[in-house]
Amino acid sequence: MRWARVGGMRYGLLGDIHGNLEGLQAVVAALDSERVDSFLCLGDVVGYGADPNACCALVRELDAVCLFGNHDQAALGMVDLTWFNVYARDAAEWTQHQLAPEHKEWLAALPPARIINGFVVVHSSLPNPWKWIYVSTPSLAAETMAACEHSLVFLGHTHVAEAYRKVGGAVVRRRPLTDGGHIDLNTGDRWVINPGSCGQPRDRNPLAAYAVYDEEAGTVEVRRVAYDIDTAVDKIRQSDLPDFLGLRLYYGR
Ligand code: ZN
Repeated sequence: MRWARVGGMRYGLLGDIHGNLEGLQAVVAALDSERVDSFLCLGDVVGYGADPNACCALVRELDAVCLFGNHDQAALGMVDLTWFNVYARDAAEWTQHQLAPEHKEWLAALPPARIINGFVVVHSSLPNPWKWIYVSTPSLAAETMAACEHSLVFLGHTHVAEAYRKVGGAVVRRRPLTDGGHIDLNTGDRWVINPGSCGQPRDRNPLAAYAVYDEEAGTVEVRRVAYDIDTAVDKIRQSDLPDFLGLRLYYGR
């Protein structure tokens, strides 16, 4: 397939916001200055952080194409929480009580995967986005590639900024993007790209992560931006959420 298109869109990709309003605001400001035409949110708007309602409101205000994540599902009471670790369970129960009915209604209508103009966005993986499988190895990335006809897939869920590339019939290789990076899509290879997490990075870089996909240039820029971590952590401390969920933000783990 050819990437170059006249007058292509610039997409701002963000995901795994997890109720971290300060992280989200920093990423939105960065994407605004990148002149993106459209926002794509890869899911998990809520869960873990202290501002689930404000994050839903801001993503809705952006008119983002938004996916449904497993923590959004948990916050709607649709998941057996025994599968979650204790922190995630506490956070899911807390979020269930906090979340306004209008945001619950909005989240409940979101899909876990979508085909946009010639590429795929999915919170977790293909072929079954409802299994919430973490794409964290080349073989899992290869399964996602094999499950769709598109050359480009963006996903989230692991909170690790990285990309998987398949050149022709060769094996899939992983490329870490912890400090960001530039990807050229014009070589005809297949890509699975995870821009990383905007609200709870786990790749040991505490900065908020996002990406810009320029359709016309055929490029993806993965970037990090500083945000007010202290405020996000203080809000978690002052809520009934476990303190650990704040502390981990300083370490990006
Ligand atoms: Zn997540």
